Amino acid sequence: MLIAIDGPAGAGKSSVARAVAAALGVRWLDTGAMYRAVALLVANAGADPRDERACASIARDARLDFDARGELSIDGDLAGQALRSRAVGSIVSLVAEHPAVRASMVAKQREFAAAWRGLVAEGRDMTSVVFPHADFKFYLGASSAERARRRAAQEQVLGDPVRVEEIRREIETRDAIDSSRACSPLVRVPDAFYVDTDVLSERAVIDTVLGRIRKAKRD
Ligand code: C5P
Repeated sequence: MLIAIDGPAGAGKSSVARAVAAALGVRWLDTGAMYRAVALLVANAGADPRDERACASIARDARLDFDARGELSIDGDLAGQALRSRAVGSIVSLVAEHPAVRASMVAKQREFAAAWRGLVAEGRDMTSVVFPHADFKFYLGASSAERARRRAAQEQVLGDPVRVEEIRREIETRDAIDSSRACSPLVRVPDAFYVDTDVLSERAVIDTVLGRIRKAKRD
């Protein structure tokens, strides 16, 4: 069974995808982590994130893998929190814009899907480009204000309105690049089930997704 989930930064895709995968006993594929890993390697190499050739060669050579818990390793080492740094966050959308980088990542994503018996794949182009024939497609939406609030809660800076506003601007900048790029922009495909997460708790989003899958399997 292949479940594809797309949505903008901070819509809760990772938590939802992880929980849905666990409930269904299938693997979780966090494709954002893959682009973040390439961005981390680009930063570590001192390469220019706007240089497509340099980024593409790093993406092609990167040995990316996931353990059974869905944690990503680079060349055999768990990447961990390094993927979540602000330095990585500030360049990942630039790195992910390059068609040659995306071609390498998409090929790896399809290899994972072929090797695993079932998966929940989440990202920006899962429903539209990578797995257009997925058994189930979802799009998680939320306003940028709510997404910034959630990220700020994770970072424990909710009491700092200046930082919350900064996070909101960072999210909107990333949204703008992700939605307007020429290659595989973030889009809401018509056959994806839309979940407005602004008005739902994380548990309710997970239950909505699982409910839809289980109902379809019963019918
Ligand atoms: O999901 P996450 O916020 O970790 O993704 C980080 C970045 O990776 C996104 O902002 C986007 O630029 C890129 N990405 C992408 N395609 C995907 C997943 C992530 O371009 N399928």
